Amino acid sequence: MVNFYVPDATQSENHYDAVLVGGGIMSSTLAVLLNELDPGLRLLIVERLDSPALESSAAVNNAGTGHAANCELNYTPLQPEGKINPAKALAINYAFEQSLEFWASLTEKGKLSPKKFLNLVPQISFVWGDSDVAYLRERYQRLTSLAAFSEMEWSTDFSELADWMPLVMDGRSFGQPMAGTRIKRGTDIDFGSLTNSYFHLLQKTGALEMQLSTEVLDLQRNGEKSWKVELKNKFGNHYVYSPFVFLGAGGGSLTLLQKSRIPEAFEYGGFPVSGQWLVCSDLELTARHNAKVYGKAKVGAPPMSVPHLDTRWINGKRSLLFGPFAGFSTKFLKQGSVKDLFRSINSNNLAPMMQVGINNFDLVNYLFGQLRLGHEERMESLREFSPNANSKAWSLSIAGQRVQIIKRTSHGGVLQMGTEVVTSSDGSLAALLGASPGASTAVTIMLEVLHRCWPEKMNSEYWRKSLRKLLPSFGKDLNTDVAVLVETRNRSNTLLNLL
Ligand SMILES: Cc1cc2nc3c(=O)[nH]c(=O)nc-3n(C[C@H](O)[C@H](O)[C@H](O)COP(=O)(O)OP(=O)(O)OC[C@H]3O[C@@H](n4cnc5c(N)ncnc54)[C@H](O)[C@@H]3O)c2cc1C
Repeated sequence: MVNFYVPDATQSENHYDAVLVGGGIMSSTLAVLLNELDPGLRLLIVERLDSPALESSAAVNNAGTGHAANCELNYTPLQPEGKINPAKALAINYAFEQSLEFWASLTEKGKLSPKKFLNLVPQISFVWGDSDVAYLRERYQRLTSLAAFSEMEWSTDFSELADWMPLVMDGRSFGQPMAGTRIKRGTDIDFGSLTNSYFHLLQKTGALEMQLSTEVLDLQRNGEKSWKVELKNKFGNHYVYSPFVFLGAGGGSLTLLQKSRIPEAFEYGGFPVSGQWLVCSDLELTARHNAKVYGKAKVGAPPMSVPHLDTRWINGKRSLLFGPFAGFSTKFLKQGSVKDLFRSINSNNLAPMMQVGINNFDLVNYLFGQLRLGHEERMESLREFSPNANSKAWSLSIAGQRVQIIKRTSHGGVLQMGTEVVTSSDGSLAALLGASPGASTAVTIMLEVLHRCWPEKMNSEYWRKSLRKLLPSFGKDLNTDVAVLVETRNRSNTLLNLL
């Protein structure tokens, strides 16, 4: 954990090149990128809690899957004509390769230690029943025709599947139609540890100031392309000024975006969904499972509720979890206020939010169903995955809070499951809304923020040269250029020990 002191901000110079709100994976990634591109920039991170990475980015608050679309079936929907559309899977795979490339470069420079946050864990999709097996076969055939997924393995063989994931096959009957795919080069990531590693390396450069236990209360324009940001800490309220503000406040970003009063903010509402896991206390069982096994979501279940049985590595310790189950709280942050949801509703987003409720009856039904679950009902869901699971070996743990985006469109309110970057027209403000695929794709998302908000710099030869050093594949398309994909993966595998 990073130990920053809480400065008396009234005594410090209060103008910065960039003010980044939130001490999670998103702000820390952006801060490292900015520092690598221009070490002279003066950066401020403001975090309301007393340490960074305590909300969604904390390892225990997310599933730690390095989302590369290897195993998550919601990224490869079946089209009405019965074909798989791989577009989303390719985009996510590309983004994850970019994250690996970034970590590989920082490792090469001696700035990051992958051992602290990255573990090789095979990623498996597993389904049963004729129609789901047919879907998985179609997905396998489509994806393996693409270089990005060419290493995917297929199996319907009971003993092979038992070798891949013994806990999932123990107690299962031979007669059932079932199938699995596996990509061995999958990962589990401790995003909390990664966030703290980023802050450690920034601390060494001296370019970053971090104000902990300090909350951003409000922000307002301060002339052209400049913001005045109001902060509150134990010393009272004070202001900082910057031509660029990034709202990387996780669930808190929507509230701050609304406070910025930029016209783009009026298009959004948010709906919080909390996550819960079953965590295994049996060390022998934990040691027998070495995979992230993703199944198929139930009808009406949101994509982030796709069930999975996961090996996790947190602070170097191995664990086993199953979930997520959905919970409900009106808080936008795990350590937020129960008033968050109500405060976010206004005359611009009320109608879209109600439309989303009416048009997503399956989802509402699913969420109500989840709230009624007791331990045994949760165990029944787990037993669909791991038939021999014993109720006594598993207990409930509360994960992080997600705020699903509701966007006002010309067709009414639309519920969006992905991540959305919102920027002001002059590029002086950027906010990150939404969750999935989240932390795994932080590097690509932050590059998008820089493209939109720092276009001159991003087009300058100096920054482009630095970016090519940091991301050797920058400007090339990993999905169309197989040679670059192979070269990039080989480099990342070697530097990050993913062999
Ligand atoms: C249950 C669950 C499972 C997930 N699983 C995965 C997964 O397997 N793989 C994956 O890649 N992603 C996953 N995600 C998503 C991932 O965790 C998030 O996308 C990511 O952590 C978001 O990072 P962040 O920096 O935006 O937000 P956070 O980590 O939440 O950080 C935001 C910070 O802002 C601070 N803050 C908020 N408001 C203010 C304010 N007004 N002033 C100052 N500070 C403020 C908060 O205290 C917090 O520290 C999961 C998320 C959840 C909830």
